Amino acid sequence: MNFHILTLFPEMILQGSEASILGRAVKNGHIALHAVDIRDYTTNKHKKVDDYPYGGGAGMLMQAQPVFDAYQSVAKKLGRKDTRVIYMTPQGKRFNQKMARELAGEDELIFLCGHYEGIDERVLEEIVTDYVSIGDYVLTGGELPAMVMIDSIARLVPGVLNNEASADFETFHNDLLEYPQYSRPEEWKGKKVPQVLLSGDHRKISAWRLEQSEIRTRERRPDLYDKYTEKQQAVKVLLKKDKFLYIDMIESMRRGRGELLHANRNGMVVWDDMADIAMLAVFDGEGAEEVVHALPSKKGNEQLIIVHQETLLKKLEGRFHIKKVTPVKHAVYTQKVSLGLSKEITFRTLGLEHLGEIMAHYHMIPDEGYMKERLLAGDIIGAFVQDRLAGFAGTHQEGSIGMLEVYEEYRRMGIAASLEAYLINIHLAYGHTPYGDVLIDNEASLRLQEKLGLCISKEPLYWLTAVEKERKNLLF
Ligand code: SAM
Repeated sequence: MNFHILTLFPEMILQGSEASILGRAVKNGHIALHAVDIRDYTTNKHKKVDDYPYGGGAGMLMQAQPVFDAYQSVAKKLGRKDTRVIYMTPQGKRFNQKMARELAGEDELIFLCGHYEGIDERVLEEIVTDYVSIGDYVLTGGELPAMVMIDSIARLVPGVLNNEASADFETFHNDLLEYPQYSRPEEWKGKKVPQVLLSGDHRKISAWRLEQSEIRTRERRPDLYDKYTEKQQAVKVLLKKDKFLYIDMIESMRRGRGELLHANRNGMVVWDDMADIAMLAVFDGEGAEEVVHALPSKKGNEQLIIVHQETLLKKLEGRFHIKKVTPVKHAVYTQKVSLGLSKEITFRTLGLEHLGEIMAHYHMIPDEGYMKERLLAGDIIGAFVQDRLAGFAGTHQEGSIGMLEVYEEYRRMGIAASLEAYLINIHLAYGHTPYGDVLIDNEASLRLQEKLGLCISKEPLYWLTAVEKERKNLLF
């Protein structure tokens, strides 16, 4: 991912990008920071970039021309004009983890840093797509705010954090603040590390941590806690209605990915921001209209929607051109015990070096960008027989197990079952309920799921690819 920072103080940006995790990410090529000195673009012979504001008032204002030309130089280099340009300003939308996750999906981002009293409004109108503030206080310039944003976005770019330092279980991830943590020594100034953390009992440790997170969030951030309890309630409702059919919505919220966009007795909408997937359910005929309304607009872009009732398809046609409908059933592993694995097979996380081979063997999603992203995220596992790759499987962006492929010459050796079992064990270790989607007519896969002890949802659900119609065509 490339960050382009338009600034009068490039040294402030460069300094911040050399050390620690950002420094390593730059070195490894996961991210790149390009500081563009706005002063290099002034046409003023004294290199002036600011002037007095019309109408009087304190301080100086950055002029439009050098800012615009600095922006043009980046747009020209990128060969496109649709890159998001974020102006750092205390007047902007407040930056948060959700925004960081959304921006981490971009390939290129341009940051515009103001200084002095800010920037001539006319150039802002011309180039800025997002106005963002890092908090309700005024700083002397936009460089520190830009670096704050870059730091938090960069650590969500696949490959930037080590696997062990996953962003999966930290503050804000599930609308909960992180639990308190302790390191050596066991006793310091008479204060002991809580006994449960020394017990080695991972289930007890997880339960303690969750409890601490809940207490901490309730006390320190009641606003977040309300959101969290609302989701817990929604999960309870879905579990009661049909835990197999709704496992995607349940797990999405439990794993801290899904936002609850709409919930009442008639229906529910869960939105996975990172995967850009909407999950829709109606509990009675009345709910369909509200559920379709609750979907955010993607402005003509392709949108993935999972609907859990066929009746919703008709309703969605009022707002979307439905391009593809794929009926599937959920296969859910409800037991808590890990599955046994064949000793003949070794499992390794695959990396980008396997992209070509995977694309050659896997025909279900011929989307190279998606497979690349999955590999970078460390979510694809290879099965090796005598050190040769015999097949692979992985976890999809929204959390289901899939992408299973065993190479022709290695079929009927139990490799598919072992790969799935391996992934189930990984999900169990994270405290998830493992699940996957099976095409309703894929008998071989349905048999495999049953053999491994997974339960198949009675009702089907539907994956849709849809594009929103022009607003004027909306029927409601
Ligand atoms: N006169 C401006 C106003 O009242 O909105 C404030 C200008 S501030 C002194 C100078 C620059 O610092 C801004 O143009 C902006 O780029 C940056 N800045 C200051 N506080 C910020 C914040 N909380 N978030 C993001 N950027 C900020």
